[in-house]
Amino acid sequence: EIRDAGWNLEISYASLPESFYSKLKPTPVRLPKLIILNDPLAATLGLNHPALRSNDGVAVLAGNEVPEGAVPLAQAYAGHQFGHFTMLGDGRAVLIGEQITPPGIRVDIQLKGSGRTPFSRRGDGRAALGPMLREYIISEAMHALGIPTTRSLAVVTTGESIIRENEQPGAVLTRVAASHLRVGTFQYAAARGNTQDLQALADYTLQRHYPEAEGGVNRYLTLLQEVINRQAELIAKWQLVGFVHGVMNTDNMALSGETIDYGPCAFLDTYDPETVFSSIDLQGRYAYGNQPRIAAWNLARFAETLLPLLHDNEQQAVKLAEDAISDFSERVHRNWLTGMRAKLGIFNEEQQDESLIDGLLGMMQKNRADYTNTFRALTLGRPEDTVLFGNEDFSKWKELWEARLGRQEESQASSRLLMRSSNPALIPRNHRVEEALEAAVEREDYSVMERLLGVLSNPYAYTPEQEEYTLLPESCSSPYRTFCGT
Ligand code: AMP
Ligand code: MG
Ligand code: MG
Repeated sequence: EIRDAGWNLEISYASLPESFYSKLKPTPVRLPKLIILNDPLAATLGLNHPALRSNDGVAVLAGNEVPEGAVPLAQAYAGHQFGHFTMLGDGRAVLIGEQITPPGIRVDIQLKGSGRTPFSRRGDGRAALGPMLREYIISEAMHALGIPTTRSLAVVTTGESIIRENEQPGAVLTRVAASHLRVGTFQYAAARGNTQDLQALADYTLQRHYPEAEGGVNRYLTLLQEVINRQAELIAKWQLVGFVHGVMNTDNMALSGETIDYGPCAFLDTYDPETVFSSIDLQGRYAYGNQPRIAAWNLARFAETLLPLLHDNEQQAVKLAEDAISDFSERVHRNWLTGMRAKLGIFNEEQQDESLIDGLLGMMQKNRADYTNTFRALTLGRPEDTVLFGNEDFSKWKELWEARLGRQEESQASSRLLMRSSNPALIPRNHRVEEALEAAVEREDYSVMERLLGVLSNPYAYTPEQEEYTLLPESCSSPYRTFCGT
């Protein structure tokens, strides 16, 4: 019985004007097989994992069945892709519904790789196993790192091959998200030019993510400011942990403040603001160091869509929007600074902190030091573990840092604790992720991935089992490359 799995689905999205979605079911697949299921996440959603593992349960995760009463749909949206405006939409995903969790929280349950939709354009609507497992691993790692993100409930294979550069096993990922409302959803509404529909979307977004603002004075300005605040927190967290999203198109920026769309993303090894992993990002538009600027650009596109709602007078509306956007860059910087102080065990604020931080980052860049491992070594009180050790500038920097720590009330021990909770012992290292995917896809050996997921689930634990996952690849002669939409 499918119902036994605990599905409790609503579809509030269908209350929006019809232009925002297209009702359709996922396309059935030949032979669904469950590859991985996130038991703890299932539990928080009120789902019963033995029932999800049964044939009926897996049929839902593959899109062959929909839970009773579900009204699945694909969402329409638009977006600037590498700066170019395009009408898009869920081309290979279907929202099967919004699960109402036991404490009453509404979350989207989306099948990704579920077949063609009216928004598929030239795509096949399908996804390959490797990239879906990659999304599973990295999104769950991000969650464990304390970074707002969509989650991954399950990956099933379809028993069908899909054609990319070569033949690959097809797969469906079950993605769980606070919602799939994007900057691009507003761009879609704005491009169609119907202010009533735009307002309906804005009211829906407020109701779903910012219900406190609903009765306020200028609720659409509040919406803009709140989205900006959440993005300012999110982007600072990415920067602090060395996460490179890789494809920050406006359709990949969620209004909930969650990280969404794990395509070409990867974590920094050596610290270099110009780092780009994506094979198609030739200009470095989405480089690590550019992420705050690009986020501001995306938010400006969001603000533009809201102009008709912000004020009756267009100039006044523009002024409100500009003020909100200019606030964003400052906020990211402030959040980042707070986070960096914590990474260095600093509790209070001094004017020179920023130059202390820049001093370290500058040395790291110059000496191609590993970002995560440098902070890990400082956290463990093992400066000899960094490539900076022995360097005269580093010795001087370390003296300044130690003096700085001496000028605060908190003990050395509390500094260390703060550092431990701010510096992950490990991140999903690119070569480790690749190794796990290769075992899974080439040999149907999922044990490598499961071990990796295990150590990544508690990145601030500093356990002995995590040690080997902190090591860098033996030879890294060619730079790591990632790919979009495969
Ligand atoms: P992304 O680069 O992942 O943000 O995807 C951009 C757009 O391409 C979205 O509208 C996707 O739904 C769509 N898309 C990506 N892959 C496929 C595919 N295999 N079939 C159909 N649409 C796709
Ligand atoms: Mg996308
Ligand atoms: Mg994608």
